Amino acid sequence: MTVGPDDPRYADLRIKGVNTRFTVDPERFHLVGSTDQVVGLVQDAVRAGKRITVRGGGHSCENFVGDGAQVVIDLSEFHDVSFDRRRNAFVVEAGATLREVFKTLYLGWGVTVPGGQCGEVGVGGHFAGGGYGPQSREFGSVVDYLHAVEVVVVNRYGRARPVFASREENPDLWWAHTGAGGGNFGVVTRYWLRDPNARGTDPAHLLPRPPGTILGSPMLWGWGDVDQAAFMRILRNYGTFFERHSEPGDRFASLFSVLLAPRKVAAADPGGFLISAELDGTLPNADALLKEFQSEITDGVPTPLIPPPERTPWLTNALKSGINGESGRYKQKSAYLRRRFTDEQAEITYRHLAERPAPAGAQEAPMLWLLSYGGAVNTVRPDATAMPQRDSILKAIFLTTWDGRGGDSDGIRRVREYYRDMYASTGGVPVPDDANDGCYINYPDIDTTDPAWNTSGVPWHTLYFKDNYPRLQRIKATWDPRNVFHHALSIRPPR
Ligand SMILES: Cc1cc2nc3c(=O)[nH]c(=O)nc-3n(C[C@H](O)[C@H](O)[C@H](O)COP(=O)(O)OP(=O)(O)OC[C@H]3O[C@@H](n4cnc5c(N)ncnc54)[C@H](O)[C@@H]3O)c2cc1C
Repeated sequence: MTVGPDDPRYADLRIKGVNTRFTVDPERFHLVGSTDQVVGLVQDAVRAGKRITVRGGGHSCENFVGDGAQVVIDLSEFHDVSFDRRRNAFVVEAGATLREVFKTLYLGWGVTVPGGQCGEVGVGGHFAGGGYGPQSREFGSVVDYLHAVEVVVVNRYGRARPVFASREENPDLWWAHTGAGGGNFGVVTRYWLRDPNARGTDPAHLLPRPPGTILGSPMLWGWGDVDQAAFMRILRNYGTFFERHSEPGDRFASLFSVLLAPRKVAAADPGGFLISAELDGTLPNADALLKEFQSEITDGVPTPLIPPPERTPWLTNALKSGINGESGRYKQKSAYLRRRFTDEQAEITYRHLAERPAPAGAQEAPMLWLLSYGGAVNTVRPDATAMPQRDSILKAIFLTTWDGRGGDSDGIRRVREYYRDMYASTGGVPVPDDANDGCYINYPDIDTTDPAWNTSGVPWHTLYFKDNYPRLQRIKATWDPRNVFHHALSIRPPR
């Protein structure tokens, strides 16, 4: 189906992205339902010299889909998930959302992939960029299960065609889809998933089987009860815990935790922050593990509110957790942590979040997310997939959201300054070193290309891809020699 500006549906499609800072205003949207259609559309656009972009779930943090697009191929109506007997792997059409993948894989076969927390995220961008979530410490990244991919590419003569790529067939193109991010090499139409170590043909044993029950309970603190010293201690306890418990196979491997600290508000109720915790509820010592985690985090700090732990069936938990359906104007930055934040970084965080409370009703609200990581993710070699960060223990998200009534500049400035201060000793960005390991391409941040905000002298692509970048550039030259598919953080053709 083709939708142009005169069609009433155009208005819905142009604002579909989750970051409402951006709209997508092409000459035409094409909602596709087959690989053949994608081939035809890409061919027509290349012949006409039109700029093509691709949209899956619309969850990009940056304007990669809207930027200069004349033709947008929207895959959201191409979303079937099934088992492909011929290839002995699950096949996911590239417009599916995580919600559809989790539901179909689990209800059909009792299996899953360790994807993200938000059910509305599309596999189109998520899988190609790496993909991680609550099950990652136990099972790794989504791309560790990427068996094959079908991509519509354009050759040097401008001819569009579908290509199948796996470890055996076109292995470079397959590898490029294990962490380089979407919008780089062509239009992905299908992903196949299977555990590379699985044997046999029973689908119920070809992907990880998540625990039937999740046990969880958050810890909640009010900003009014926590001074700077206590906040720094909480951050230190949290980071130390994950320094000690992120080895593959650790007894806390099934633990997924998020520290979510929004900015304090200057009002009678200044708000608060939380640390969530959920783990495999079928473990015989699940309750004891949860208690042990909570007591390590709360050691020497004001007592938080801890609701009684709840047991939730796995799928229900997977579909309810996260930030489903949320959208708004925001700016986001990321970091991989090999070690906990230093006390200086904890102090800086307190300063940005709590020392100057936002006036009540303030538009822009910087916040910190720390997400548990490591475990099985770190069993894979940095060059085995395109995603090289394979020894971190936490991921950090630095985020500001606002409603836009006062414009965007304050919101963007606040998160820029917070991030710059956090990484002041390495040029304003988390340059790979003993403590940090760069940034996550699924949380893209175009400021990493801007010498005003990245003063490290380390190029943006080293932050995201490290030593894997030259190989990605060679693959780009082979599979997208005309650079048809590009955006602000896409792989550049080699010079
Ligand atoms: C609320 C929210 C929660 C998130 N939670 C997590 C999480 O828990 N874990 C995690 O790992 N990530 C998470 N992310 C990040 C998410 O993985 C990325 O934003 C991902 O790229 C989104 O993919 P999409 O298809 O929804 O987005 P889109 O905006 O549609 O696409 C993102 C990029 O991929 C390209 N692309 C999309 N489809 C295709 C295709 N078929 N072929 C080629 N290129 C394509 C687009 O052109 C664009 O460049 C979250 C993001 C948000 C906004």
